[in-house]
Amino acid sequence: MDNNILIKDLKSLISIPSYGSEEKVAAYIIKRLKLEGFKPKKDKYGNVLLEIGKGPGFLLNAHMDTVGIEGWKERALKPVEKQGRIYGRGASDTKSGIATLLYIAGQLKDAKLKRRLIFLFSVHEEDSRMEQNGSFLAVKNIDATQGLMMEPTFKGNKLGIGVGCKGACRFKITVKGRPCHSSKPHLGVNPIYLADDFIKDFKKIRQLKKTYSILGKKVNLCSVSTITQIKAEEGKNLVPSKCEISIDCRILPGQDSKEVVNTIDSLCKKHFKLGYEIDSYCNNGYFGYDRSMLGLIRKVALSHNYKANFRIRPGRNDSSIFHNHGNIISVCFGSGESDQGHTIDESVSIKGFLDCSNILLDIVKCICL
Ligand SMILES: [Zn+2]
Repeated sequence: MDNNILIKDLKSLISIPSYGSEEKVAAYIIKRLKLEGFKPKKDKYGNVLLEIGKGPGFLLNAHMDTVGIEGWKERALKPVEKQGRIYGRGASDTKSGIATLLYIAGQLKDAKLKRRLIFLFSVHEEDSRMEQNGSFLAVKNIDATQGLMMEPTFKGNKLGIGVGCKGACRFKITVKGRPCHSSKPHLGVNPIYLADDFIKDFKKIRQLKKTYSILGKKVNLCSVSTITQIKAEEGKNLVPSKCEISIDCRILPGQDSKEVVNTIDSLCKKHFKLGYEIDSYCNNGYFGYDRSMLGLIRKVALSHNYKANFRIRPGRNDSSIFHNHGNIISVCFGSGESDQGHTIDESVSIKGFLDCSNILLDIVKCICL
């Protein structure tokens, strides 16, 4: 019965597009919560919030947006059940997380809670600047000490639970050249060649290595940086006036993003004598956990035959915002499958989704009842 609600919600959520705008998904969540007798609110940024119970705050978060559906078109929004899996955009990242939170709210509606549960369904998590990110905009008004953030984490019966994540620094560099007719390229300065020299140096940037300790276990991490886009499209028969380079750097928890910005800037100064512009933004990572909470997660997971592993995740997620800007020790643990996010034909194992939803419900019950 309850499992049916989870599956029904997940399928309904998948069929509502939420790239570009989350408004329709927000309306669905509000309607569902009102049907349970709750009074959810929408803030001015488009986030949906619900608070139940009294006591110290405990945050439950899932983002409402998904990445786009390029490459698989309409079928991305038509949920299909096949061989124990549900297919559709957001099946794992993270409409499963939203369905789980609706389920948890419903299961606890008549419970006497000793913690104040704060549900935050947030906007603009995927590829957004900090100033547009719903969690960032909401966190200053959230009074909580701990929380769970629903990003996809399971694989088989293993849970890769996040106690930290790397940060992301993104750069768009516009390199200036001197345009001319391509029959006499020596009269101009080709910005693509300048970019080529820059990239050779960029590949030699020394990455930072650091060792972290998670419940006494040593974890080695290294920062990474990659060129992700190059653009110079002014015509086939001219030396272009400019070339654009996009760079994605993943920095370590605690690493100063200014260092990365300075390194990139000095490389630009060295190579781009005719001028350049940099547009960049950095979202920091984090690392930190509450030992007793991890113990509880491990114990509850085991009672459902799942093994919890704790890790620092390579991709940035909103736990970093709760940690860095709200002093909320937030664990990344959702009901989606970890390798499915952002893929074509994204799907989720129904068993895993249901099991993780029930593990999460039990954890919240242990904390709040
Ligand atoms: Zn996500």
